[in-house]
Amino acid sequence: MTTTNLNCRNCGSSLPIPGDAEFIRCQYCSTPHMVQRSGDGSPSLTMLEAAVERVGQDVRAVDAKTADLLRMNEQMGARLELTQLQSEYRDRVQQLNEQRARLDAYFQQKSQPLIKKRDSGKSSSQSLGCLAIILGVGGFMAAGAAEVGAGAIVGGVILAGILLLLALASRASSAAPLKRLQRECREKADRIKQELAYAEATMKKRQRELQQVINTSRDG
Ligand SMILES: [Zn+2]
Repeated sequence: MTTTNLNCRNCGSSLPIPGDAEFIRCQYCSTPHMVQRSGDGSPSLTMLEAAVERVGQDVRAVDAKTADLLRMNEQMGARLELTQLQSEYRDRVQQLNEQRARLDAYFQQKSQPLIKKRDSGKSSSQSLGCLAIILGVGGFMAAGAAEVGAGAIVGGVILAGILLLLALASRASSAAPLKRLQRECREKADRIKQELAYAEATMKKRQRELQQVINTSRDG
């Protein structure tokens, strides 16, 4: 094992360096040194404080580099998620719009016969109403002319009243199925609207969070 003599980096005293030494302390001023070796194994001395300081700088540089990489990674993740989020949102909106279009088509198809039914109910109730008026007016005219007995007049007026009630009932019952369908479709349309609003609110909230991550990374 060869021993080389080098000088203390602090006081300049001669220091014998054994061939395998990694650290050595000056026997005069006690300054610790790190022994570094070049390719051919010849040693050189660095005061340990300085060496530690350099290692500290290296570690800080690595830390900064690592933080940069982590930020970049986070930023890329956020960009990727943002893209996915926007595409998912578009899909959801399209899906709900299709649901809405199907609902409209369903209403169109189902309401056609019900509108006919309501309109025919309306016209038949109008016919009943007309008949009731004719009977009623006829009854009073007959009473005025005194051509028929009082019993027949009372019977005619009662019949007119019954016909009027029937007319009102038939009008209401013929319009009911259409009203039910309208209510059903309105409720479904409201639900679709709520789903749309929910999807938009959820998307915007997450988008804001992701945009913040992306902006922070850009500034940092
Ligand atoms: Zn020394």
